Amino acid sequence: MAVVGFDVGFQNCYIAVVKSGGIETVADEFTERCTPAVVSFGSRSRSVGNAARNQIITNPRNTVFNFKRLHGRLYQDPVVQTERANLPYDLVPLRGDDDDDDADGRVGAKVFYLEKEHQFSVEQVTAMLLTKMKETAEASLQKKVVECVISIPSFFTDSERRSVLDAAKIAGLNCLQLMNDTTAVALNYGIYKEDFPDPNEKPKVVFFVDMGHSAFQVSACAFNKGKLKVLSTAFDPYLGGRDFDQRLVEHFCAEFKSKYKLDVKSRVRSVQRLWQECEKLRKLMSSNSTDIPLNMECFMDDKDVTGKMNRAKFEELCADLIERVTVPLVAVLKQAQVQLQDISAVEIVGGAMRIPAVKAQISKFFRRDVSTTLNADEAVARGCALQCAMLSPAFRVRDFSVTDVIPFPISLSWSSGADEAISCHEIFGKNKPSPSSKVITFHRNRPFVLEAFYSDPGSLPFPEAKIGVFKVQCVQDQHNGEKSKVKVKVQVDASGIMSVTSATMVKRVSSADTQADPEEKDTEEISIHDGLDDSEGQDKTQVRLDIEKQSTVKCPCTDKDPNLAYTLRAANAEPNSQPPNPKKAKMKVKHMPVPIEEEKTLHLTKDCLNTFIGFENQMIQQDQQEKERNNAKNAVEENVYFYRHKLEGPYRTFLSADDQQTFSGLLNLIEAWLYDEGADQDKQTYLHKLAEIHKLGMPVKDRYQESVKRPKMFEELAAKIHKYKAVMEEFTNGSECYIHIDESDMEKVRACVKATHDWLTTMKYSQEQLKPEDEPAVHSTQIYEKLQTLVNVCEEVVSKPKPRVDSPAEDSMQVDHNSKKSPDSVTTEFDHILQNGEKNT
Ligand code: ATP
Ligand code: MG
Repeated sequence: MAVVGFDVGFQNCYIAVVKSGGIETVADEFTERCTPAVVSFGSRSRSVGNAARNQIITNPRNTVFNFKRLHGRLYQDPVVQTERANLPYDLVPLRGDDDDDDADGRVGAKVFYLEKEHQFSVEQVTAMLLTKMKETAEASLQKKVVECVISIPSFFTDSERRSVLDAAKIAGLNCLQLMNDTTAVALNYGIYKEDFPDPNEKPKVVFFVDMGHSAFQVSACAFNKGKLKVLSTAFDPYLGGRDFDQRLVEHFCAEFKSKYKLDVKSRVRSVQRLWQECEKLRKLMSSNSTDIPLNMECFMDDKDVTGKMNRAKFEELCADLIERVTVPLVAVLKQAQVQLQDISAVEIVGGAMRIPAVKAQISKFFRRDVSTTLNADEAVARGCALQCAMLSPAFRVRDFSVTDVIPFPISLSWSSGADEAISCHEIFGKNKPSPSSKVITFHRNRPFVLEAFYSDPGSLPFPEAKIGVFKVQCVQDQHNGEKSKVKVKVQVDASGIMSVTSATMVKRVSSADTQADPEEKDTEEISIHDGLDDSEGQDKTQVRLDIEKQSTVKCPCTDKDPNLAYTLRAANAEPNSQPPNPKKAKMKVKHMPVPIEEEKTLHLTKDCLNTFIGFENQMIQQDQQEKERNNAKNAVEENVYFYRHKLEGPYRTFLSADDQQTFSGLLNLIEAWLYDEGADQDKQTYLHKLAEIHKLGMPVKDRYQESVKRPKMFEELAAKIHKYKAVMEEFTNGSECYIHIDESDMEKVRACVKATHDWLTTMKYSQEQLKPEDEPAVHSTQIYEKLQTLVNVCEEVVSKPKPRVDSPAEDSMQVDHNSKKSPDSVTTEFDHILQNGEKNT
């Protein structure tokens, strides 16, 4: 099983894989470790990553980038509309699943692909990126990749997280877990460290700060031996490298307007070029404080433009952005309840952290130098790969527990009792541990509905507070007409996704010898079982909540009056107000699972997901066919140039003048065809052309190669014949070395040497009679076969070991000698070297 971590960044993606030697960041076919988050659509295929990057300028309308922030959002979403204003390609509201013309409102990208208009959902676009990253990982690991861990920003809401998981499914990946960017970094930092305090000691506190292209994230983490606990996270989802670029773009747009009278924003291509140049300029300013020129030839209307910028001026343009860096730092520190002096280190990662003013602002806030221990670009992917290794049975990883936090508080609401009043309760508070699960007990006699929502919409970087609606079905009253107790389990899983995982109806069945359920009540009650609590080893604590004492929670997602604060109130809510019914002492309790119907906001339906999976597979095949077609075309072109070059050089003498003319003529014809009607043909047509070239070219190539190999093979065979002739002569002279060999055996050697010698003489003579352009009289493989036969026949005889001569005096010496050099010990010695993969030459 392959173990892989994907960092899906807004601009840059990284892939880390686990190999037996450790974690490795994988490079693509261009030897680039970074895969740009870009997908470009062409008339025959898609290109993704580095192959697509340049097409932002050359094919801007059909090249999709800056799409990560579109996950899980509606077209009407203000964030989508802001992004749309800066994108050269079209965003559209997508049509519904049932192929009618009603838009379902989710956002998609409209592009021309395979010469037709297509609308791709953001899940499909991210799936295309993941497909590419999956292929890169597979090429490196030489095995199929299915299981993986994928990074997401810690501020992603339920809808955004599920959207990324859907993208993974479309790409054929089984995402074992989504991991928050800074948590992945913290894992990558902590798992190798040996010097953390023991679990019962005060933890070492490290802050991780990540500024990427689109967002700024920070988390406070506490480390003990074998344990990472995130204390708090904070973020500015709208502060990243691109916001700094935008200041430069605005600056130069204004400058070019007054200096050259150019309306840069009126031309899609020019704006994109300016964005790219401004980013380059900004990167240069990170290591240079002097003036840096910005020159662009033929920028617009055939005009060349120039400008300049320096770090001081840049910092002036971005002063407010730099100020904003402090806001999440204040928040994370406050929420973590840590004093500055208790922080052990502040680790920075993310490309935009290289902006000196940003780094300085962080240093100033924490009153210390920031650390750059980790690889700023690859730390997230490596953390994800480590998490994947911990979840996978394929590798043994040291025990290391990771507890993340819930970034936004989550509440549940339900209508209660006969008056249908809406009750709300905060189930998962902000910065509470994640994953986490709770059990809520209701008393109902019919199906009921739970609505989950983020309880603090003001803190949410997302317009929709509602998470989903969960219908608890098949609930009935007890046989005696009383309400049934229904236990509902809600959880936030390791990927930060909230769900109602199960509901069980507790039914009382008549029984003479069983006790009454001690929790039995006639009034509605809530009891919460904390699955994963802050305190270690406290697996399940049951907290009974006094309903009347619950704080009031706003329910922004109900269609009742949104300004109304609903009091958590139950019908007849008087806990313990009714005396236990004495008859209940005779009841037996039976737990019956009841189904839950889930309606999540902006959820891709199963059918829709299957359609996307099918279409992605079709597109993969289409890309593969196009790749093969291109390879075939390139092979034709390469072979035309190869043979033309060789015919003028080393191959010239290996074909007759007539053949030379015919072959050159064919090459010229094919070359002309390639630039004309052959420019766009199918794979088969190119393969036929290639076969035509090979038909004439291969025999020439073969004759040339034979002319190089043959003399060497002849020489080698002659040398062996010479060697065995010398042995035969020594044998005839009665040499000590061969005295143990039988005459009959030596006769076999003699016969074989003679036959080989005769064959060699004949072949050499026949070959000498031929011209280079003629078919060779003998092939080098035939000479090799002769050589093999000669060695096999002769070596068996001439290397026969001498029989051992035993003498008492020599015995002990022989034992010693054998213990060092016996065939067995020699084998063992070599085996050992081979096992270590070393060769001692
Ligand atoms: P996000 O984390 O927001 O999803 P990402 O992971 O794609 O985005 P990174 O790869 O961490 O982002 O960082 C990319 C940003 O870093 C870009 O804005 C890029 O311009 C910036 N960057 C890279 N090198 C430098 C540098 N030397 N100086 C300044 N900025 C740099
Ligand atoms: Mg990032």
